[in-house]
Amino acid sequence: MPSVMWFRRDLRLADNPALLEAVADGPVLPLFVLDPALWGPAGPSRRAYLGASLRALDGRLRQRRTRLSVVRGEPTRRVVLAAREVGAERVHVAADFGPYGARRDQEVERALAEADIELVRTGSPYAVAPGRVTNSNGDPYKVYTPYSRAWFDHGWRGPVGPPARASWVELADGTTAVPDAAPPPGLELPEAGEVAALRRWAAFLDKVDDYEEDRDRPAVPGTSHLSVHLKWGEIHPRTLLADLARKPSAGAATYRKELAWREFYADVLSHRPETAREYLRPELALMGYDRPGRQLEAWQQGRTGFPVVDAGMRQLRATGWMHNRVRMVVASFLVKDLHLEWQHGARHFMHWLVDGDLASNQQNWQWVAGSGTDAAPYFRVFNPTGQGRRFDPDGSYVRRWVEELRDPERVPDPHDPDPDTRDLVGYPQPIVDHRAERQEALDRWQAIRR
Ligand code: FAD
Repeated sequence: MPSVMWFRRDLRLADNPALLEAVADGPVLPLFVLDPALWGPAGPSRRAYLGASLRALDGRLRQRRTRLSVVRGEPTRRVVLAAREVGAERVHVAADFGPYGARRDQEVERALAEADIELVRTGSPYAVAPGRVTNSNGDPYKVYTPYSRAWFDHGWRGPVGPPARASWVELADGTTAVPDAAPPPGLELPEAGEVAALRRWAAFLDKVDDYEEDRDRPAVPGTSHLSVHLKWGEIHPRTLLADLARKPSAGAATYRKELAWREFYADVLSHRPETAREYLRPELALMGYDRPGRQLEAWQQGRTGFPVVDAGMRQLRATGWMHNRVRMVVASFLVKDLHLEWQHGARHFMHWLVDGDLASNQQNWQWVAGSGTDAAPYFRVFNPTGQGRRFDPDGSYVRRWVEELRDPERVPDPHDPDPDTRDLVGYPQPIVDHRAERQEALDRWQAIRR
């Protein structure tokens, strides 16, 4: 009996249990639905990357003498139509635990049931699906460390290969072209697709032992850059965890803990879906915040006059990615130096990041804003200049992304150029006085503690 494999955030053939389930049913229709609710708000980098990733998946399927059928429209309608057209009795997916995805799947499930078609969920984008790990009372964990221990003890299944033998069906008509993958001029996107993800992982695995040392240095390619591949499911964390288990180093152990953060945040968001927008700690909503205006624009454009902040914001626009250390610094600057609510920053990130993931993005923003799980104490305010000097000691990260500060002869100190140098090279003066704004942030925080 034919079935549908509805791809969403699992754009790969290997280690894809839902696809294996579909293949076991009989001929498979590989389907992707361009959902206006997700495509509409995506920024140019995310659209370009997704287009490239769909092309890569299509290429993999063409090697197997089929193709990806892409349709555009409401999933409730388009999935049912596609399943009917090929005479499917089952539609296979990997479960989605995000607020929108979970709701959408329930609606699609109902619409399919009316046509006597079953929605079958197998696996998820996580090694341990949200909700699986609970404390001894059966409640979700609220902080990371006990969660990560329980997550590790729970364990995960090993990776599975791509389907060995499969037969396929395609939609006869009504399909749309895979969206044009050409990124807008000036955007340098990473190579998309399952093969690129596996290649990147293999290259990183060779140096994972150095991860511990290199991961906090934005100028050094010391992190895996796997986030975008994980976001689109071009590789599954199970594959990474299986390889890491064979590496006894501290670097491998730290990397595993980072993957646990990703899973923890997915778990938190699935239990508290409202925290995609609202403060996880409601008391922080009571603080006095400023209204967004020109300072927000300066932050978005990388023109705050704080070199490491501007470097990060420009890297984001140019590549759809930003180093984790710098994400923390720019986020702290928005909340504690500009006194803006974290949601303004989170929205901008989601627009531009190719790895933009609602759970990781919103929960990390909440963490920086002092309102998240494990929140850093609010009074710990990053000094953007000090962070730059500490993590980019020779200034090469700043010089790479802030063109005005590139020339060491004209700008000997890229982390804190003097006012005349700034004027000379056309780099903005600082838009705020960090010391004064730090004090202001602490005063506002004290006011809600009373
Ligand atoms: P590596 O250092 O190689 O880490 C390996 C993997 O571990 C990452 O790919 C990611 O899946 C996971 N990971 C690492 N750090 C974190 C973390 N703090 N939280 C959750 N997972 C983590 N990550 C996203 O994937 N999508 C986002 O939208 C996102 N938004 C963020 C916003 C802010 C304000 C901050 C501070 C962090 C955000 N992160 C986000 C987490 C982190 O910055 C990125 O996962 C990381 O920089 C991606 O680069 P990498 O793959 O080279 O990371």
